[in-house]
Amino acid sequence: MNPAHSLTVITDRHYLRHDTGGADHPEIAARLTAIRQQLAAGPLARQIREEPPRPASREQLLVAHRESYLFRLEEAALAGRSFIDHPDNQICFESYEVALLAAGAGPTAIDRLEQGAAVQAFCPVRPPGHHAERGMAMGFCLLNNAVIAARYWQRAHGRQRILIVDWDAHHGNGIQAAVEEDPDVFYASVHEHPTFSFPGTGFAEETGSGPGLGTVLNVPLLPGADDVQLLAALTGRIEPAVARFQPEAIIVCAGFDGHRLDDMAGLAFTSDGYHQVGRLMADWGHRFAPGRVLTLLEGGYHLAALAESVEAYLAGLLAVDP
Ligand SMILES: [Zn+2]
Repeated sequence: MNPAHSLTVITDRHYLRHDTGGADHPEIAARLTAIRQQLAAGPLARQIREEPPRPASREQLLVAHRESYLFRLEEAALAGRSFIDHPDNQICFESYEVALLAAGAGPTAIDRLEQGAAVQAFCPVRPPGHHAERGMAMGFCLLNNAVIAARYWQRAHGRQRILIVDWDAHHGNGIQAAVEEDPDVFYASVHEHPTFSFPGTGFAEETGSGPGLGTVLNVPLLPGADDVQLLAALTGRIEPAVARFQPEAIIVCAGFDGHRLDDMAGLAFTSDGYHQVGRLMADWGHRFAPGRVLTLLEGGYHLAALAESVEAYLAGLLAVDP
């Protein structure tokens, strides 16, 4: 491996073809274009090696979604429907194919990490995934990219204990629902308090159930919470639980809609805060799961803040040496 290429970015021009119907929808192709332009023009460009995703296989999808939903989603797209399950979830003719490429990015990146061919892996995908339920689209999300990646890591590479850490401004209800009874997957989320924010789940009292009791950790923050509170939640609340759990692999659900300029939530994070989060995720990787940190893009809708924050996060991720 060329040591300069320390960041593998799994990306595909087809991600731009998921059309959410026009100017009013915040989840648009320009999000990825803004990220790409920012990274290409900045200091990380020399460290990046781009690679296309494999589309997720039927087998990979079926561990996270009902087959009836997969048929329904594919049919809705091919039949020319404009949305599925709720008008939030806008689709076009190609959305099913694009969603397969988004869901396949994680497994593609995991193979590279496991082969030692990538040091860090970032998947700037759309549509995002963390709100998607087993049988329902939700919150712009069609397929649950993080759950599909976690199950792939377990089944294809034998890494049983998976941490999914999610600091998108919104609670990842779809991830929690998929893993809350599973003691082998720890889901930790920092998000705006559900009283004030979509989707209305993610109270601190939700801690998993049955055999998975104790492997869900929600840290809701009040509107206006800033970088100090974000870092305190991650280091003070989540890190001790991660140390007890001892993950073998880490999936980061990186949403940047907690930025103070992003009006999808009332949080007040900055790009410097995301830089510090990047350093922390790298540190967790070195301590708990060396070479096995996968970052998946979730939300982030203010184009300039998103691009700047992604770059700052990745710079933090790459700044920490083992
Ligand atoms: Zn979000």
